[in-house]
Order: sequence, then structure tokens, then C-alpha cells
Amino acid sequence: MLERRELFPNVIEMNRQARRRLGCCVYLVHSQGEWLLIDIGYEDTVTDIIDIIRDMDFPLAKCKYLVVTHADVDHVQGMKRARELLPGAVMVGHPLAAEALAAGDRILTYAEIPAQGISIDLPRIKIDKTVSEGDILKVGDLELTVWHTPGHTEGQLAFRCGELLFSGDNIFRDGCVGNIDAHHGSDIADFIKSLTRIRDSDVKWLLPSHGPAFRNDRKLLQSTVDRLDGYQHMADFGTCAVDWPLLDEWDRELTH
Ligand SMILES: [Zn+2]
Repeated sequence: MLERRELFPNVIEMNRQARRRLGCCVYLVHSQGEWLLIDIGYEDTVTDIIDIIRDMDFPLAKCKYLVVTHADVDHVQGMKRARELLPGAVMVGHPLAAEALAAGDRILTYAEIPAQGISIDLPRIKIDKTVSEGDILKVGDLELTVWHTPGHTEGQLAFRCGELLFSGDNIFRDGCVGNIDAHHGSDIADFIKSLTRIRDSDVKWLLPSHGPAFRNDRKLLQSTVDRLDGYQHMADFGTCAVDWPLLDEWDRELTH
């Protein structure tokens, strides 16, 4: 049996477990013999991930949920394959993620960025059960409470488990956030609300979907909120900005 390298009690992160970068963070949460996975990453790493899980002695039939934080291709491309290997698991995600994945929406999911020549396969994925704000996922005697945290995408979810928050692409250890992009359904005002909620919560640890876990540090969160607040008034962010003060200035100068 492979030694389990727990990040927190009952929580294993698969990149950390493998001691190499597989892709996005894939969290395995387990209790009383049951377990779930939060995100899976690209299809080409699914077999490696499932092999490691089997080697850690988690029975594949005991996987209760496959959890989708949001519908981005780098988080979900492998879900179809994962479900084939874990037939007992129920796939859960936000209704908007379910809609994008069922439709195979290549723009919302970042499978296709034509201007950059990016075109990635994305199988149609059917989410079995939609969840949103306040819903609870039970695994053994643990409960994960669903937080709807839009901003990066409209349907992004985070999951609270005690003092931990599986925080998706809301914020990373360096204070960066998930990509802000109009074609992706990003909304800066919503993003600020989601970050403020995380900042003001008594969650102690953030377990993001990219990079290492880190403390829920008020200063870090605040500086990110302040930066995003600035974005709302910058032309740099195009239609994601709410206004552009320079145009008001220009109006005044033109009429003067
Ligand atoms: Zn991401």
C-alpha cells in the first residue's frame, strides 16, 4: 500500500501525493471508508490519479461523488473517463456548469480560444445532480457545505468543510485570481463579493484549485479585493469594467 500523504486530516491532494505536477489540484476527501474527488483535471492524467488512489487502498466502488468546481476544461476534461472508472460516483456541480458541459460549450469552458489557436477536446459531460448555495455533500461523517462563489465563472462553487474551504479558482496563494474574461462569464463585482465573503468568514485554510494550500489571510484577501475593485474602473478589462473615469474627464475637457 502506498503511504497516504494527508494535507489535512481526511484530505489528500493528488499533485502533492504524487510529488509532481499533474494539473489542477485534485482533492480526495475521505471519511469512514467513503471518499469523493473535487475536480479531476485533464483526461491524460486520470489513469495515473486513479492508480494512485487504488494504491493508497481506497476502494474505487466507495467513491461517492465526483465534484465539479466549475466547467473549465482543465478541471473537467477527465470527468467522463473518471466516471467510467468510478461507476458508483455521482457527479455534482452547479446548474450553470451542468448546462455548459451538457451543451459542450467550447467557449465558456475554454476548450476553444480561436484567437490563440487553442482547441482542446472536451467530451460531453453529464452532471448527475446539480448543487448550489447551502447544499451539503456528506462523505462518511464529514459534511461539505456548498458555497456559490461566482466571479471567475458564473457557476463556480467552493466547498466548506470545518475550517477548510476548497476554494476553486477564487484566489491563489500569490493573490492572483482565476482568469477574468468576458467570454467566460466573468463578473468583477461578483468576484469581489465572493472574495469578501471568503475574507470575512472564519475559514482558516484555503485549498485552491491551482497551487498550494494557504491561510485565509485577511491582508492578502483585502489586497486582491482592492486590486479587483480597481479593475472595475480600468479600460484594461473592457466590458468587464463598469466604467472608465477617463471618459468623464474627457467629457469635461471637451465642453470646457
Ligand atoms: Zn482553473
